[in-house]
Amino acid sequence: MTEAETREYESFMRGLKRRNPHQPEFQQAVGEVVASVLPWYLAHEDYRRAQILERVTEPDRIISFRVTWETDSGEIRANRAWRVQFNHALGPYKGGLRFHPTVNESILKFLGFEQIFKNSLTGLPMGGAKGGSNFNPKGKSDREVMRFCQSLMIELSRHIGEDVDVPAGDIGVGGREVSYLFGQYMRLENRWSGVLTGKGLSYGGSAVRTEATGWGCVYFCEEMLRHHGDSLAGKRVAVSGSGNVALYAAQKLIEVGATVVSLSDSRGFRHFPDGLDLDHWSAIRELKEVRRGSLAEDVGGGIYHPGAKPWGIACDLAMPCATQNELDLDDAITLADQGIVAVCEGANMPVNHEAAELLRSRGILHAPGKASNAGGVAVSGLEQSQNAMRLSWSREEVDRRLRQIIIDIHARCVAEGSGEGPKVDYLKGSNLAGFKKVAGAMLAYGAV
Ligand code: NDP
Repeated sequence: MTEAETREYESFMRGLKRRNPHQPEFQQAVGEVVASVLPWYLAHEDYRRAQILERVTEPDRIISFRVTWETDSGEIRANRAWRVQFNHALGPYKGGLRFHPTVNESILKFLGFEQIFKNSLTGLPMGGAKGGSNFNPKGKSDREVMRFCQSLMIELSRHIGEDVDVPAGDIGVGGREVSYLFGQYMRLENRWSGVLTGKGLSYGGSAVRTEATGWGCVYFCEEMLRHHGDSLAGKRVAVSGSGNVALYAAQKLIEVGATVVSLSDSRGFRHFPDGLDLDHWSAIRELKEVRRGSLAEDVGGGIYHPGAKPWGIACDLAMPCATQNELDLDDAITLADQGIVAVCEGANMPVNHEAAELLRSRGILHAPGKASNAGGVAVSGLEQSQNAMRLSWSREEVDRRLRQIIIDIHARCVAEGSGEGPKVDYLKGSNLAGFKKVAGAMLAYGAV
């Protein structure tokens, strides 16, 4: 940025921080997008006059409500829940629900904000939203989770609809939760509609939705490496997380000939020096998806490291697939010092700002989540299309479309992020490509 642009950036961020105090994750996400788009924005007076940047960083609305539910032993509990409907310039609001004790307004605003540009990048007609609750599903029985979901939906149902807002899963919200939420919505509305995505296959879900985020992340990584004359075959990949995104990223990595050297969860990581194989992958999938256990339990071989992150092990590539800010400056230095070629984000904003700067300064390819994990929402968009047409496509058809959407997203990043160095700046490319489309629509709508 020039000096004048830096002054504008600082002035904009001062205002944003004043308007959104105590929301570090939201401020971080906005800061990253604004840094990428500001030079373009400042050169377009019509966008400035329309205050697009001020407006796109303010959610359309935030709905906050209490969710009261009953434990198996008859005790009453109350949690807080939100839906952040951030921007619907490009289509109905779309974005997941997260159930985790750390959920708060800052985290949901950061996720909703990122979702606007991710959804724009997919080329599908979807706005950006996010929601969730500080409810912790861990240690709860199925019936407790069901009662919580049903109570939450009583309020949420007033604010969503297939042409209004279509939630999906995220951390702590998988097939079980989506099904309870969907069943309750149907009961309340007395009609079947594609109001949630990530549904079971026999009741309106799409083939490949479960796998889509992880597979899509690997497809993006393949495109990125191919564009730079490299490939995934034979690469050792350190993966974090062992939830939906991490598991299916690991599965696809093994399929394309890479070696998965780690998986992790909130309590530690498991190191597979010789690589994870598909038999052990299946055992871990069963452990995490069905039994909801911990990686401390040895079902997949490897060596367990409690309380640690996997970024210190020998690898060629890192794929953080657990949560935001899980890879910091020290981790980035460790990874860079051992000569990794790329970091490809499966989670949302897993690489913090300082770590991202370090990767850039060391010439390491860095795929930001809004581009590399967009496969999940892309297949959710395809699920909406199938529901609207009362059709369901085969696995092959959905996978083919997913792959093409990822190839197109990669091309959009390259178009906007090439030029300043020998490597593509994917951060800048994804932010600019996602932003321009939303900004153009907002400008066309006038003062709304
Ligand atoms: P899951 O709930 O299925 O899995 C989350 C994984 O991350 C679990 O292994 C969990 O460990 C681990 N984890 C959670 N919090 C922490 C923490 N603070 N430190 C270390 N590990 C942690 O979620 P998803 O796989 O769906 O989501 C993972 C990430 O991907 C999130 O950032 C999400 O926003 C993003 N994402 C998800 C999409 C999807 O389609 N599901 C789409 C696009 C992005 P444990 O098992 O111990 O809880």
